[in-house]
Amino acid sequence: MKIFNTMSRKIEEFVPEKDGKASMYCCGPTVYNYAHIGNLRTFIFEDLLRRTLAEDGYKVTHCMNITDVGHLTGDGDDGEDKLGKRSKETGMSVWDIAAFYTEAFFNDTKALNIMRPQVVCKATDHIKEMIALIQKLEERGHTYIAGGNVYFSIDTIDDYGKLAGLKLDELKSGARIEVDSNKRNAKDFVLWFTNSKFGEQAMMWDSPWGRGYPGWHIECSAMSMKYLGDKFDIHCGGIDAIPVHHTNEIAQSEAASGHQWVNYWCHGEFLLNDKGKMSKSTGEFLTLTVLINKGYDALDYRYFCLGGHYRTQLKFSFEALDHARSARAQLVARVAEFKAKGEAAKTLSEKAESYLNSFMGAMTNDLKTPEALSYMWQMLKDSSVNDAEKLAVLYKMDKILGLSLDKVEAKKAERLGSEEDWKLVEERTLAKKAKDFARADEIRNILLERGFIVKDTPQGPVLEKK
Ligand code: AMP
Ligand code: ZN
Repeated sequence: MKIFNTMSRKIEEFVPEKDGKASMYCCGPTVYNYAHIGNLRTFIFEDLLRRTLAEDGYKVTHCMNITDVGHLTGDGDDGEDKLGKRSKETGMSVWDIAAFYTEAFFNDTKALNIMRPQVVCKATDHIKEMIALIQKLEERGHTYIAGGNVYFSIDTIDDYGKLAGLKLDELKSGARIEVDSNKRNAKDFVLWFTNSKFGEQAMMWDSPWGRGYPGWHIECSAMSMKYLGDKFDIHCGGIDAIPVHHTNEIAQSEAASGHQWVNYWCHGEFLLNDKGKMSKSTGEFLTLTVLINKGYDALDYRYFCLGGHYRTQLKFSFEALDHARSARAQLVARVAEFKAKGEAAKTLSEKAESYLNSFMGAMTNDLKTPEALSYMWQMLKDSSVNDAEKLAVLYKMDKILGLSLDKVEAKKAERLGSEEDWKLVEERTLAKKAKDFARADEIRNILLERGFIVKDTPQGPVLEKK
């Protein structure tokens, strides 16, 4: 298995910490609104990574957090409190908002056939772990208190910004950052707030530094280390997390443990709309429900995402979604046809096997989904592979693609003949029951004249063309 590592900017061979196992942590949703289809693209990418690792033989532990603590709209400790803002807009409590949108998120991911992570952890259930981690950082001399808040001091480590390749000299003088006057360095970040600019903050907890709430970045460090250990294999997210969120997660996690934290950093590129990056905070965004209400299936969107490599930007349009829908419909039709003909093959010919190998080769080479799909279509067109084999290979490919091909219903045999023909068929059945074989034979001949052979099958009589 090879995967692009943002840390080295190279495609690397995946070497797990523990033989045969793969541990992955994915930054989960911030539950103050519906996930938009851009967010969902990132979760589909992570699901593909998980499924590919599993098909490649690894036992995967997938852990994802739910950010249900009110955090700010800006990554750099600036902006408004997202949950608080939504609470004011809707009149719902922050807790109810978090619960409502968490459920909505899992409804979406289920419809998209995204496998549920084995560990789903809520930030609000792990305040104790966050406090313990901040205390550890404090003991090791990486923090300071200013204006009532606990800050991480990036000058206490020598490799801050290594993930993003940040040039700190430039950043110091950079005018882009809204500088909090408590910060010694503009890039320092809050670990614990007691002094909030939002007086009526709804979610607060007691801590050694006073009643308050955690900074955003600390939750992912505390929870990933709790469930996966202080050194694990893979950390995922969208590329927007690189310069601040993941940079700060690395700084505090490695400062606490004194060693490297994560081996592979994997990031999914953006989904774009006409105006650029689809985003929650800028208002207009598309949800999965909007697509479903327009008559699409969630899996049409999944198929659409498979058509773009996860490290390239993908532009959403309804026209492109229509293409995905018709491609998926063709695929489903082929599966229905194969199923009607019989079972999937138990063994594969060399040719059928070679398509599966090419498909796996593309997926294990940095999740090249467009290439993998092209092998699938090539196989479907290849008349030297029989239908039972095609079905068997498709089932295997679908372990990764996640298009629910096993749930496709077998195509129902088309019923030949008119209403009148079928009245005759029924009459024949009754005649046979009444042991009037002369009449039954007579009807058989009438049907023959009409161009049909009547055959008796365990499912009842059928008409076939003469
Ligand atoms: P959030 O719920 O805002 O924390 O975002 C959830 C995930 O979606 C994060 O990993 C983000 O990096 C990612 N994300 C946000 N916007 C986009 C987008 N337009 N395209 C793809 N991923 C995105
Ligand atoms: Zn995170």
